[in-house]
Amino acid sequence: QNVLLEVTDLKTHFPVGKSIFGKAKGAVKAVDGISFVLREGETLGVVGESGCGKSTTGRSILQLIKPTSGSVKFKGQEVTNLKGDEMRKLRSEMQIVFQDPYASLNPRMTISAILHEALETHQIGKTKKEREQRIQELLEVVGLNKSHASRYPHEFSGGQRQRIGIARAIAVNPKLIIADEPVSALDVSVQAQVVNLFEDLQKSLGLTYIFIAHDLSVVKHVSDRIAVMYLGRMVEVSNKKDLFANPLHPYTQALMSAVPVPDPSIKKERIILEGDVPSPANPPAGCPFNPRCKFAMDACRSVKPRQIEAEAGHFVSCHLYDPEIMKSEQKRDMPV
Ligand code: SF4
Ligand code: MG
Repeated sequence: QNVLLEVTDLKTHFPVGKSIFGKAKGAVKAVDGISFVLREGETLGVVGESGCGKSTTGRSILQLIKPTSGSVKFKGQEVTNLKGDEMRKLRSEMQIVFQDPYASLNPRMTISAILHEALETHQIGKTKKEREQRIQELLEVVGLNKSHASRYPHEFSGGQRQRIGIARAIAVNPKLIIADEPVSALDVSVQAQVVNLFEDLQKSLGLTYIFIAHDLSVVKHVSDRIAVMYLGRMVEVSNKKDLFANPLHPYTQALMSAVPVPDPSIKKERIILEGDVPSPANPPAGCPFNPRCKFAMDACRSVKPRQIEAEAGHFVSCHLYDPEIMKSEQKRDMPV
């Protein structure tokens, strides 16, 4: 498959604590060096605890937040420096579905007006009539109908509102959709329906997804590959099968131990993580996970782990898999 998106060493830092001279005293390293590729038609699940930088990563890729440094290539074109018409064109090719369907739809606009606005912004449909036709199609595609067009967001349930958010995203014929915890705010009973809609649309429209969630059980179903984030970094990226069969990073192993297994006869030991996620304004030196890691070695407190391809297509940022670091550390057992 063709590469659709290539992200290289992406960093988004926010200045904090301006002094009286207007100079920032520090930075929240919300995204701190992320690299991955995404192929056409694929779904990359991105998981991690709140505050790990998942949403900022999504927004930085979409250029809704200006990244501090690094490269984002979409269909081979660098997009971090696009302006004007080129940026507008990019916006129609990369869309976002927000977590909160209550907050992301203007309560004063009818569904029809919300969708008209999206179509007009991206100059889709020559006449009002064409756009109305398109809106009717869109509502049907997401499981609503034309009688819904004249209603306001508050007249819909959470699940229906998320369908409207999805209709708005696909209205402009995007290639890539970044879904930022699209089912977290919904009742468990409707989560599966919305996830199924995402999957159906992917097939029928040939979409590529980045699907952000805070736990593995949601991304497990939709993803082809999964990236695990911790403190602004992707600590492990792999296809789903290998990640579940053989999680390499100690943090992934802990997350994995919290996912319920379907077969209760399989005994699984829950790994409890000690301590809290450190502040991204003041991350620990070396490996960001070192204060909570039971395998931490000397190097972990001073050297940032590089991304290692431990198995084909299975990337991990942990010294345990770095032969050079391990050579210089005393021999110790690998985690099982
Ligand atoms: Fe643990 Fe060290 Fe690996 Fe970080 S680099 S996850 S501290 S073993
Ligand atoms: Mg978020």
